[in-house]
Parts: sequence; structure tokens; C-alpha cells
Amino acid sequence: MRQTVADVARRILILGSTGSIGVQALDVVGRSEDLEVVGLSADRSWEALAAQAHAAGVTRVALSDPEAIERAPAAFDGEVLAGPEGLVELILDSGADLVLNAIVGSAGLGPSVATLGEGIDLALANKESLVVGGDLVMQLAEATGARVIPVDSEHSALHQLLAGEAPGTVDKLVLTASGGPFRGRTRDELADVTIAEALNHPTWAMGGKITIDSATLMNKGLEVIEAHHLFGVPYDRLDVVVHPQSIVHSYVQLCDGSSLAHLGYPDMRVPIAYALHHPERVELPVRALDLAELGALTFEPVDEETFPALGLARAAGRSGGTAPCVLNAANEVAVHAFLGGRIGFLAIADVIAGTLDRLPGGPVRAFDTLYDADRDARAIAAVLVDEAA
Ligand code: NAD
Ligand code: MG
Repeated sequence: MRQTVADVARRILILGSTGSIGVQALDVVGRSEDLEVVGLSADRSWEALAAQAHAAGVTRVALSDPEAIERAPAAFDGEVLAGPEGLVELILDSGADLVLNAIVGSAGLGPSVATLGEGIDLALANKESLVVGGDLVMQLAEATGARVIPVDSEHSALHQLLAGEAPGTVDKLVLTASGGPFRGRTRDELADVTIAEALNHPTWAMGGKITIDSATLMNKGLEVIEAHHLFGVPYDRLDVVVHPQSIVHSYVQLCDGSSLAHLGYPDMRVPIAYALHHPERVELPVRALDLAELGALTFEPVDEETFPALGLARAAGRSGGTAPCVLNAANEVAVHAFLGGRIGFLAIADVIAGTLDRLPGGPVRAFDTLYDADRDARAIAAVLVDEAA
């Protein structure tokens, strides 16, 4: 039941609108008169972007890929902004109340910074923004008063669970992980897995990069770093438990022995709607949870030997500085190489570990430090990919 209705529609800018999160966000927006889309962006899928803009009545879009930028004006009457600068222009000039950043990878950092720097609230699906630049990004939000509202399902769950708790009462945050398609396998059994097997996630349908991150468990590693920054919680108070059904989206342990959990069928429209409408809640066509029908929910510890990526991410998070940025860049290069059929599944973690060995973290003085570390890490990871290919 809706409690209040906004007088004026909230103006939303959706970055990465042609992706998995972006498309679901447009579904959420289409169900509400309180939300109005004022701009959209994509990397290269200009035809899909033009169709979305037409359907949503949007007159300004941004594209990143040079070839797409050339071709798009033929399909779109409105203004097409180009490249990273065009994306920033879209953010600054759109008059948005809220920017949903659903770009994949470290390319999302600049748009997050532009949004928060302008004092605009950020609905953040792009976890890489916080992995790469968490300290600076959260400082920027603090300085301008803009809010960061998580879209990642675990962090949305934690945001909701922590809303009513006084500081000092929370002992631990526990992120749940589905375990991905290779849960229960040994390391030897992972040597020859195919791209199609790795892309076959048991509970969530997502973009390619995050699906591979889920198969290696790097996704959970990135999420631990994301939670550290979002909630200001040290790493020894962040745990992970494998929960194959993806019904419990995370839980918090409190000082009096209580634990509070967030449950629901896996559907990203729930955390997306929570972020877009926050602090209100709206109705969604999502099935009510039937625990009797489910019968049992199971939990198990992470097999960190078979899935070393989680440990690599934790270690990089604890080191701080540029280490998480290096980890993320190496992961992006390695996942791209795996999806291109150039390296095997186990080589993904090897490339990341090798890059971190060769490029130990240093202090972050400014965003430029991060862009340099990202570039250096990509160069080293590319060499390691060639060696592993
Ligand atoms: P996706 O690959 O399906 O979509 C990515 C979008 O970003 C596309 O619109 C693409 O055009 C755009 N894009 C890609 N590279 C770009 C670049 N260099 N510059 C500008 N735009 C670019 O990805 P997704 O699965 O929707 O994930 C998006 C983000 O949300 C990721 O950070 C992911 O980790 C996070 N996330 C996704 C899910 C999910 O269910 N898909 C869940 C939680 C978190
Ligand atoms: Mg998640």
C-alpha cells in the first residue's frame, strides 16, 4: 500500500540503460507516475538506446563507442552526447534528482564522481565505483550531501536492515553468495569449464561480466569492499556465507544476539525500485515469499581454496590505497580474456594475483592516482593474459 505520493515526479537519469540493470530500471520507471526519465546512456548499442529513448520520451542520450556515436544520429532525433565528456555533460545538464549508475566496470567511476560532485543523489549498481575509489567517492558524497543508495541486492538488503539500528549495536554484516554455477566443484574440475557453463548462473540473469565474477566469487569479493565503503564497516566485521537459493539477501548480527535478515525471491527490480523511490516503498508485481513452499534454505561456508578470488579481494581491501583499483582492473582484463576464449577459468584468479604481486598498492591522493593505477594494472594484466593464453 502506498503511503505518500510525490507531488512532482522525480527526475531520473539512467546510465547503462541498455544493460541488465538498465532494462529492469526502465520497467520499474514504467510502473510509476512518480518517476520521469530525463536521459539515458549506453556504450555502443545505439539502436536499443534510440528505441528506449523514443519509448520514454527522452531527447538527450550519451554513447561511448566512437562507431556507435557516428551511426546513432540517423536513428534518433534528439541530441547525442559523445564519449566520457558527453556522459558528464549529460549528468550536469539534465536537471536530474537521481542518477542510476548501471554502467559495468571502472568506466562507471567518472560518472559516479560527476554525480556526487554535483550534489545529485546516486543509485549505485556500479559496484566498481566503490571498489576502485571508495574512500574518495564516499568523501565526496559526505562533502556535497548527496546520498549513495545501493542497488546491489545484498547492499540494498543491508541498507534496509540497518535503517532502524543505532550506531554501535551492529556486530557484523553477513553477505550471502549463491556460490555460482560451480559451487561444490574441486579446483581440478574447474580447469576445463566452458564459457557457456560459466555464464549459466543458477539464480540470477545478469550481464556477462558480473556473471563470470559470480562464477569465480570475485563478485562477492567486490561486494565486501563495496559494503566496507557504503556502511563504514571494517573488514573483520564483514562475513560471507554461501546460500544457493538466493532467498536471504544478507543479514546483520546485532549486539544482543538478534540477527535480522532480508528475504525475497531473487528479482533485481526490488532493490532497483527501493533505490529509485527511496525513502518510499511502492508495489511491484513480485510474488510474495512462500517459505512453506520453499521448504528449506541451506547455507555453507565459502570454499576459499577452490575460489581464491574472494581472498584476493579481501586482502586488497585490507591493504587499501590503490590495491582494490589494481585488483578490479586486472579482473576486468582477465574476465574479458576469458569471455573471448583466450584464457581458461582458473587463469582469471592467476592473472589478478600476478598483477597485484607486480603492482603493490600505494596511497591514493586524488582521482588521477586511480586512473594511473587502473591503466598500469591493465597493461600488466594484458601481459599476464598473453603468457597464460
Ligand atoms: P550489462 O553488461 O548488462 O550492462 C552494462 C551497461 O553499461 C550497458 O548499457 C552498456 O552499454 C554500458 N556500458 C558498458 N561499458 C561502458 C563504458 N565503457 N562506458 C559507458 N557505458 C558502458 O551489465 P549489468 O549486469 O547491467 O551490470 C551493471 C552494473 O550493475 C555492474 O557494475 C554490475 O556489477 C552491477 N550489478 C548488476 C546486477 C545484475 O543483476 N545485472 C546485480 C547487482 C549489481
Ligand atoms: Mg550482489
